[in-house]
Amino acid sequence: MNKIDKRLHFLLGKVKEECKKVKELSDFELKNKTLEFKERLNNGETTDDLLPEAFAVCCEADYRVLGMFPYDVQILGGIALHLCYLCEMNTGEGKTLTATMPLYLNGLTGKSSILVTANEYLAIRDAEEMGQVYKFLGLNVEAGVKRDTNEKINNDSKKDVYDADIVYTTHGSLGFDYLLNNLVQSKEDRFMRDFYYVIIDEADSVLLDSASMPLVISGSPRVQSNLYGITDFFVTTLVEDVHYELEDKKVWLTNKGIEYAKRYFRIENLYSKENYDFLRHIVLALRAHFLLEKDTDYVITDKGEIVLLDKSTGRKMTGMKLRGGSHQAIEEKEHLKLSQEQRSVASITYQNLFNLFPKMSGMSGTIANGKEELLEVYHKQVVVIPPNKPLARIDLPDQYFKTSEEQFDAVIQETVKRHKTGQPVLLIASLISDTEMLSKLLVQENIEHSVLNANNAFWEAEIIKEAGQKNVVTVATSMAGRGTDIRLGPGVKELGGLCVLGVGRMSNTRDERQARGRAGRQGEPGVSIFYTSLEDDVCEILGDDFLEKYIEKDKYISKRRIKRLINKAQKIKDESAVFQRKNSVDYDSVTQRQRTIMYRIRNDLLDGKSLDENVLKQIYLNNINEFAKDCKNMDDKTMYRYILDNLSYRLKELSISSTNKKDYLKQYADMAFKDKKQLLGNRFSEYCRLCTLKALDDGWIEEVDYLQQLQAAISGRSTAQRNLLYEYQREARLSFKDMEKSIKKAMIRNILLGEVSFGKDNEMIILYP
Ligand code: ADP
Repeated sequence: MNKIDKRLHFLLGKVKEECKKVKELSDFELKNKTLEFKERLNNGETTDDLLPEAFAVCCEADYRVLGMFPYDVQILGGIALHLCYLCEMNTGEGKTLTATMPLYLNGLTGKSSILVTANEYLAIRDAEEMGQVYKFLGLNVEAGVKRDTNEKINNDSKKDVYDADIVYTTHGSLGFDYLLNNLVQSKEDRFMRDFYYVIIDEADSVLLDSASMPLVISGSPRVQSNLYGITDFFVTTLVEDVHYELEDKKVWLTNKGIEYAKRYFRIENLYSKENYDFLRHIVLALRAHFLLEKDTDYVITDKGEIVLLDKSTGRKMTGMKLRGGSHQAIEEKEHLKLSQEQRSVASITYQNLFNLFPKMSGMSGTIANGKEELLEVYHKQVVVIPPNKPLARIDLPDQYFKTSEEQFDAVIQETVKRHKTGQPVLLIASLISDTEMLSKLLVQENIEHSVLNANNAFWEAEIIKEAGQKNVVTVATSMAGRGTDIRLGPGVKELGGLCVLGVGRMSNTRDERQARGRAGRQGEPGVSIFYTSLEDDVCEILGDDFLEKYIEKDKYISKRRIKRLINKAQKIKDESAVFQRKNSVDYDSVTQRQRTIMYRIRNDLLDGKSLDENVLKQIYLNNINEFAKDCKNMDDKTMYRYILDNLSYRLKELSISSTNKKDYLKQYADMAFKDKKQLLGNRFSEYCRLCTLKALDDGWIEEVDYLQQLQAAISGRSTAQRNLLYEYQREARLSFKDMEKSIKKAMIRNILLGEVSFGKDNEMIILYP
């Protein structure tokens, strides 16, 4: 036993001692414990001090309210979650109940305890079911999502949600709410408290698989570019390996391609700043044509809209748009009407979102596979909790085939064979197209079945619950119905339990373990087999030519070699995903540093921090110095233009003896500032604050949008060409400096040129220049 395990077991012993005492308490006395704990926390005890007693109280409440007393392994898991480890617990071990203990303990602090689940269905279900326990114990609980995802929740209701002691929500909602909370215009509109404790369910899927897809909030429309059409056509004239190269999900122009582009668009340097827009659009078109495939990466709806697919799960990502014009480039490629390109106004990746929690923990059935990466990126340790009952599932050896035809044939034969005995069969594939193919073949065999494509978590949960009943056949993508327990129907144990047939090598072994874990919960019997072939999606990475050579009909290839090739493909794919994720962490750390600074300043302003007038004066004087430096020989016209644009709409003659134009501007600014101050009297400070907030938001939104686009343009270039990350960081630093300057200009412009009126409740209404 290592040090961590020893500590967990030591604490388990303490909890169990307390459990004995707590059993004797009446309901009333048990509930009263919550008040006692809160008081003790107020008096200086810590959550660690209270752990044994509070866990015992929660266990007893779990039993009295839900009829389930947590198993020892669940208590161990709960302790690990409280101590902020990432916890591997197999599917079916009861992670939902496990989480009640640390959520209760941390909920006692009055700070926010949040559980992030994989989908809305689970968040609502668990808030309701587990919620009974917290309510019984006198804590309040809320779900942060609505059943109808289109239903808008207003800020007041959101405030009620996030004020609750315990919140169940999804990672998407939490992330968007965090961004929205940092876009509000007044202190009263803020609805989120500071983050404190979080448990992430399916943590590997959130922290690893979803990590490189940032959450982006789009706002005001951007002026629509007219370059999509011509760059799209340009790209269709290119020849692979002559003008562009394609490798490992990356595409870039070769030197020949660059020369050709320069001739084609009649420009001298493709990489200069003024041609940045051309470059960006070419990169977008290249990617739309050569990296993104219809029905694999996106589908086109009846209305002619592009909906993205999450490739690893097959899930439709309705409402999610690729950033920085990629969406429009696909629309152009598919000859659809271009949707309005929007600016990104705020964005964050999950990595950074969850790193904002002082206490972060997570759980999943498969997290140990990502151990090294999680330690490196999140500095988090994985703890493996043993199962309550030993695993009885039989994982039969993988089956390897040359072609998908043979592979699907074998899967169907196995399904027919097992179905005849009445054994329930669950077929799991990574691609939607494969689930559709399986369904067709099952129809040919006259086998009734349901197909789940991870489109509707609520409906799918109902179907997947039944997947363990006698005679039932279910076809699902790996994400469909996740987190829902599959119970075995009467007589199924005797038939060998649920049979999981995995179709296709998945992009990593975690997904495969997840699929197998659908069977054999809580020591029940079950069986799993994976069917793979050289035509599996992962094998693409080996290159088309290479594969065609083998898949040609008559060419013999040994099973051993097929096996080696397929497994190698998975390994490469997994390693490249790890690399990309680390890369995205590096890129995003730049944004994160900037975001932290900006949000802090913003929050201070919202909280009413007043600006020192001398500082403001210094800012406008500096602005003028900068301006004077930029135009060495200032004529009268330029000077008056500056006044009208920055200082005052009404030109006044000042009786200034000095002939120095810079001094003249400075005195003019002093006068304008004094006038404004006089006009606003005791509201001047509030006015300056609002004007600054506006300038800050405008500047930051520009910066977020620019960084997003820059990243999109840069990542199109070959890694061999330049040190891209370095370039990105340098450019990001420069643009941050530029932003600071433009914010300082805008602040003063807003203050001096803003027009103020007062509303009904005497609130300030500002018309910004
Ligand atoms: P997981 O999320 O780990 O896959 P769930 O939380 O869905 O597992 O729980 C699986 C099933 O086990 C649920 O039906 C739950 O009611 C049941 N269960 C969990 N813990 C206990 C327990 N201590 N006693 C009895 N049943 C339990």
